[in-house]
This record gives sequence, C-alpha cells and structure tokens, in this order.
Amino acid sequence: MEDALEPEKKRTRGLGTTTKIATSRPRAPVLTTVPPTQGQTAAPKVPKKTGPRCSTAVATVLKNQKPGPAVPAQKPSTAAAPPMVGGKKPGKRPAWDLKGQLCDLNAELKCCRERTQMLAQENQQLRDQLREAQQQATALGAERRTLEEELARVRTQAEQGQQELGNLSARVLELEERLGTQEGLVQELQKEQLGLQEERRGLAARLEEQERRLQASEAALSGSQAEVASLQQKTAAQEALLAERDERLHGLEMERRRLHNQLQELKGNIRVFCRVRPVLPGESTPPPGFLLFPPGPGGPSDPPTRLSLFRSDERRGTLSGAPAPITRHDFSFDRVFPPGSGQDEVFEEISMLVQSALDGYPVCIFAYGQTGSGKTFTMEGGPGGDTQMEGLIPRALRHLFSVAQELSGQGWTYSFVASYVEIYNETVRDLLATGTRKGQVGECEIRRAGPGSEELTVTNARYVPVSCEKEVEALLHLARQNRAVARTAQNERSSRSHSVFQLQISGEHTGRGLQCGAPLSLVDLAGSERLDPGLALGPGERERLRETQAINSSLSTLGLVIMALSNKESHVPYRNSKLTYLLQNSLGGSAKMLMFVNISPLEENVSESLNSLRFASKVNQCVIGTAQANRK
Ligand code: ADP
Ligand code: MG
Repeated sequence: MEDALEPEKKRTRGLGTTTKIATSRPRAPVLTTVPPTQGQTAAPKVPKKTGPRCSTAVATVLKNQKPGPAVPAQKPSTAAAPPMVGGKKPGKRPAWDLKGQLCDLNAELKCCRERTQMLAQENQQLRDQLREAQQQATALGAERRTLEEELARVRTQAEQGQQELGNLSARVLELEERLGTQEGLVQELQKEQLGLQEERRGLAARLEEQERRLQASEAALSGSQAEVASLQQKTAAQEALLAERDERLHGLEMERRRLHNQLQELKGNIRVFCRVRPVLPGESTPPPGFLLFPPGPGGPSDPPTRLSLFRSDERRGTLSGAPAPITRHDFSFDRVFPPGSGQDEVFEEISMLVQSALDGYPVCIFAYGQTGSGKTFTMEGGPGGDTQMEGLIPRALRHLFSVAQELSGQGWTYSFVASYVEIYNETVRDLLATGTRKGQVGECEIRRAGPGSEELTVTNARYVPVSCEKEVEALLHLARQNRAVARTAQNERSSRSHSVFQLQISGEHTGRGLQCGAPLSLVDLAGSERLDPGLALGPGERERLRETQAINSSLSTLGLVIMALSNKESHVPYRNSKLTYLLQNSLGGSAKMLMFVNISPLEENVSESLNSLRFASKVNQCVIGTAQANRK
C-alpha cells in the first residue's frame, strides 16, 4: 500500500514544484497557458509606463495585428488644429486646409514614430518576455518531461501496484477461501472440542470415580498389607511352631512305634488266634455244648480267649456198654473268635500287627487248619464281591495304604510290591503269572536276591508294585483264576498247597534320612488233615498220601522252626521246607507272627479240630525273642 501511495506523493511534489515555478514570476504573462486564439483576441497588458495615448495606439495595432494602412491625409485646418486623441480621428479638416492636414499628418507621424519607438521597445520587451517565456517553456518542458517520466514511473508503479493489488486480491481471495476452509475447520474443531470437552467431563467424572475407588482400594490394600504383615508374622510363628511340632510329632511317632512294639511284644511276638467258622447250610448241626467259649476273667464283656471242646469217647463207651464218657478239652489262645464273628472284627484285632510292618517289623500271618475250616475265607474273603466278606489280605492292604498316606504328612514315603505264590508238593508256582506262563509248574525257585543278600526272591515270579485297593483286587482275582486253572488239572489242589501272599514294604523319610522296610506275609496254609496210613491205598490215594506227607512235613517243619526260634536254638531248620525257607525273613527274631487256627464247628471234624488246636497250643507257648525293627 505504501508503494501504491508513493506515486501520488511524488505527483504532489511535482505539482508543488510547478506551482513554485508559476508563482516565482507572478507578474509575467504565462504564454504557455494562453491558447493562441485567445492571444489574438485578448490584448496583452501593456506596461504601466506606457503612456495612455501610445497604449491606445499599441492596442489598436495589436488589435489589427498589423500596422494599419496609412491614414489618409487630412487637410489641416489650422496649426492649432486639435490632434487626434485616443485613436479617434480628429474632426476632418476641410480639404483646403492642407497645412492643417500636414500638420496633422506630422503630428500623426510623430505620434506614429513615438508609437513605433514605443512598439519597438514594447517589442523588445515582448521579445525579452518571449525569450523568458521560451526559457520558461523549456524549463517547463524539462519539468514536464521529468513529470512525464515521473508519471510514467508512477504509472509503472501504479501498474505494479495494480498487479500487486491483483495479486493481493487473488491472495486475499485465496486467503478468504482458506479462511472459509479454516473457519469450517474451526467449526468442526469447535464441535470436536465440544465433544472432547464432553468426553473430558465424562472422563474426569470417571477419573474422579476411579480415584475414589483407588483411594478405597489403597485403604483396603494398606489394611490388607498390614493384615498380610501380621499374617506373615503369624505364619512365621506358626512355621516355627509347626517345625517344633513336626519335631515333636516325629519324636512322638518314634515313641509310638516303640510303645506299639512294646505292646506287641507284651502281647507276644507270636500270637495265636482261634477262629471257628459257622455251620454252613446243609451241614449237620453239632450237639449243643460241643464247643464252648467261656468268658474271660473280666466277664462276658471281655473278648473270649478260651475254647472248650467236648468229645465223647465212643470207643470207651461202647466197650463198657455205658454211655460214652465226654472229655472236655480246654484251650486258651490270645483271642478266640466264635462262629458269629465278622471279618471286620477279626481284622480289628490284627490291624495293629499290620501297622508294625509299616514301622519296619516283619509280620507273618498264617491260617492253619483242616480243609474246609475257613482259612481261605479268613485270608482272602468269601465268594462274590461283598466288601463285608473281604478277608485279611484286602483289608490289610487298604489299611496299609491309608496309614502310609497319613504318614506321608510326616515326611514318610512308602512303596509296596506284591507277590503271590503257591507251594504245592514242594514246588513253587506263581499265582500272578499271566499269558502262556499260566498254570506252568516247577519253573520258580527260591533264591537269594543277590550274593550276600538276606533278601529272598522267587525266580520267574511277578513282583507287582501296588498303590491302591483296585490293583490289589486285580491281583487277587488273577490268583483265583490261576488256582481255578490248576484245580481242573488236579482235584482240590488249592487245599493241598500253601498260598503265600507277600508284600515288601519300603518306607523312607528323606528329610531325616531314615529308611525302614519289612515283608508282610499272609499265608493260607494247606489243609492240615491227616490221612489214615492204615487205610488201603489205591494209585490215586498213594499220590494223595505223598501230597499229604509233603504237607504234613512242611507244617511240622513250620512248627519245628517256630520251636527252634522260640528256644533260641543255633540251628533253625528253615531249609527243611520250601515254605519255611521262603518265609525265613518273616519268621526270625525280629519278626511278629500271628497264627489263625481255623476250626470247623462240626462234630465229625472233632478229631482234626483237636489236632489243629493242639498244634496251635504248642505254637502259642512259643515266645520269639524281642523283635527288632528293620531300620537302616
Ligand atoms: P479252607 O480254605 O480252610 O479250605 P474255606 O475258607 O474254603 O476253607 O471255607 C469253607 C467254606 O466255609 C466256604 O464255603 C466258606 O465260604 C465257608 N466259611 C468259612 N468260614 C466262614 C465264616 N467265618 N463265615 C461264613 N462262611 C464261612
Ligand atoms: Mg482254602
């Protein structure tokens, strides 16, 4: 804008100069400004020094542009004729007045001469003036050129200005457009801002809410932290207490084991329980009073420990003709189970003994008695899957698993490996054999586990790790199947053989570096009945006699072994039978032994019952030396 204004300023300056020039000569006529036509009509002012007459003459001359023609000669009337004044011709002299006319003419000539002189002067003046005016015009021309240049420059500037203005207008338009866009954008942004402000308000509200919740949480957290700190303190205290209790518990556990063992020893390291089975359907009921179970010293509430068997000596009665005398046979055992005793009742009595096996004492439980007296029922249980009828083997294992589980809380880890073999006619057979090995006899041998090892093992027999009842059930089922196969091959073989279920128990307390291990042996012995050697023997019966002799031999060896152990003899005849050899580690000085003597309630079996009771009584009189736990 400043540039656009600049030419205007300059122009003003230029005009100012012109004005100055014009005013510098105020009185001089400005010829340049007078148009030529006007110059012809308007007479230039004559200088004041010019006389009035001459002025008039000059004016006239100038008016006519050229000197007028010679005024016609007038006849002067007198010398004193009045001269022509103010251009007006004096009154016409009469023609005769030549003198007068001459005089007039002279006067007029003189006047003309004066006028000529005057005009010459005036001309000179005008020339001067003209020169001056020309100079002035030259100056003005120069000035005009300057001004024109300036004008051109100004025009150029104006054009530039115009162009700039155009550019600026375009720019303005563009800017306006951009402004429009920007305004639109601004509006959008304002809208967005409004939205954002709304959102911000919402967020602020949420933030406030969150802060409130955070504060609450922080308060809760600090409360919790304090609680945690106090709990940690309590935990540390409790851990210390727990460690102390653990220590005490361990001490107590060891004490319990010691006391338990003491109790078992007090009860006797070899105990004999007598169990009388009930009369089965279809069997002839024995006469009343055939078997009596007199109460213990504590009265009927005491568990019975005595048994009285009444036997009529028919031979003596027949010979004298008098009624046969009745002989009373009294027996006393560690416990007597009358026919009504359930499996659970029986197991309760031996559970403590089973517990000893976990504590590291070898335990051996036998079932002794004639065929059909209830040995298998006592050891394995009744037929069918009735849990009430379950025998000692499944109950003992269930008990062991559950006690091992309890002891795991005290840092003990137990593992169990089961085996089940049959000894028939001094041959060993694996009852857990599967596949093609089923029913094969004679390939199993009893061997030491390794050179110098005390442990015995049966070659080719399966040793199966077990950890739950189901696995044990499966093994017992398999053993029953294997026996059934054998039964078809040889009649009633199962009653003529010993079944030995062995469980190797290993316990470890890694925290204290303790280990304990012992075998638990549950033996279903072969039927103890004897054959009358005086009877006539057929080929089958001869075979049966051999079997019986083998059985009797092994059973009497068992008795001898127990006696030898009881008498602390230097030689114990373990090797005299496969059974005692296999059970060697379960019968020694550190072992605990329990013998069930199973009795038939029938009068017809009275002889065998007496034999069994006598054998059991002998065993019952034995005391095996103080048992030592197998601890490492
Ligand atoms: P063993 O093995 O001594 O030859 P079993 O255990 O096979 O004798 O018993 C012979 C029969 O008597 C079986 O049918 C058995 O179920 C039954 N029996 C034995 N003891 C009892 C008992 N305590 N209660 C009920 N039945 C029994
Ligand atoms: Mg049996």
